[in-house]
Amino acid sequence: MSDAIAGALYVVATPIGNLEDLSARAKRVLGEVALIAAEDTRHSARLLRHLGLSVPMLSLHEHNESARVEQLDIRLLAGESVALISDAGTPLISDPGFVLVRELRARGRQIIPIPGPCALVAALSAAGLPTDRFLFQGFLPARSSGRRARLELLAGREETLVFYESPHRIRDTLADLAVTLQERQLILARELTKTFETFLDGTAAGLLARMDEDPDQARGEFVIMVAGSAPRGGEASASFEADALLTALLEEGVGVKQAASVTSRVLGGSKKEWYARTQTLKDGD
Ligand code: SAM
Repeated sequence: MSDAIAGALYVVATPIGNLEDLSARAKRVLGEVALIAAEDTRHSARLLRHLGLSVPMLSLHEHNESARVEQLDIRLLAGESVALISDAGTPLISDPGFVLVRELRARGRQIIPIPGPCALVAALSAAGLPTDRFLFQGFLPARSSGRRARLELLAGREETLVFYESPHRIRDTLADLAVTLQERQLILARELTKTFETFLDGTAAGLLARMDEDPDQARGEFVIMVAGSAPRGGEASASFEADALLTALLEEGVGVKQAASVTSRVLGGSKKEWYARTQTLKDGD
């Protein structure tokens, strides 16, 4: 059965390291489409060469994604099928493609996922941290102040926290994790599916010490997983979440009245009571 449905966009996951992880279906679809939209055409040319495929490619990255929508839609309307790939893993997951998929779906085009490698799923599947609920946060802010603020906001979350990180920032991020989440258990998945795949387990400070002893541990690509906060019990947990929400709204410049109104809509409870709590937080209690 041919998968190349006329006028469809295929969102195709590609390997995050080990080329054997490309599915047979992904390979077939990439060979059948008329055009491949790729984050970096030079990078993806290597994958296509490895697969023995010669399919026209078009770049689609964060700087030209909106402009590409019309161009690609014209091809789809002409009855051609198109594949979207990124440099590694699943498109749209901390990668380009969201704008394209949103716009094409709004126009009624058929969007077909071809599932496969994704670093966060691979990392969670082997870490041994709870996976019934997790919170994927992509990359943390580049600056330490923004990073710490985000981590403080997340500190009370009971779900496993998952972040992506690059080798340039791994030490700085661990240092901020050590300050904000202190003794919390972390699992660091490095170089998944590649020769030097490693899982390290410890506190942020402990993992930094490991990197000092063995600088190779700071090389490569990382998924950081953090154990969720211990359950706080119903009321305390709700009030912690409410405070985090109210603080975030105030930091975004939302007024006290509006912040109280939004929180009442999201979490229930009376606007008047939320108003009082927001005012207290604003006054720095
Ligand atoms: N779309 C990709 C996916 O599905 O996982 C993610 C792309 S994002 C631009 C790249 C980040 O994903 C890296 O900085 C790293 O945090 C994570 N990542 C990608 N490949 C990885 C690997 N082999 N091992 C560990 N982390 C990886």
